Amino acid sequence: MPYVVAEPCINCLHTDCVEVCPVDCFYVGPNFIAIHPDECIDCNACVPVCPTEAIYAEDELPAKWAHYADWNAHLADQWQQMGRNLTDKQDPLPDADHWKDAPKSEEDILTWDVPSAA
Ligand code: SF4
Repeated sequence: MPYVVAEPCINCLHTDCVEVCPVDCFYVGPNFIAIHPDECIDCNACVPVCPTEAIYAEDELPAKWAHYADWNAHLADQWQQMGRNLTDKQDPLPDADHWKDAPKSEEDILTWDVPSAA
């Protein structure tokens, strides 16, 4: 069962996760990062390094974020096709500190295509 990036990542995008992933299964968009469910090997390495506590095993996802499993699958596939695999940490987004605890939802995820999942 793959791991899932949930809502706390939106508009923060610290990306510490990508440096510890043994299979390089993170795909990045403008303000969110997604785990490809077909590539994740469930090693748990990314969970403790995320500053916003955004990553969960799918069966441990808080119920309010259950739909992020579908978002990860959809967005990781889209961004994989666009060559957006990320393996080196990048700077967090400029307002990451503000957005860490600010209200947000999946509707705030920016992408380069018209979302059709979830
Ligand atoms: Fe990568 Fe392991 Fe996190 Fe899956 S659980 S995304 S394999 S670091």
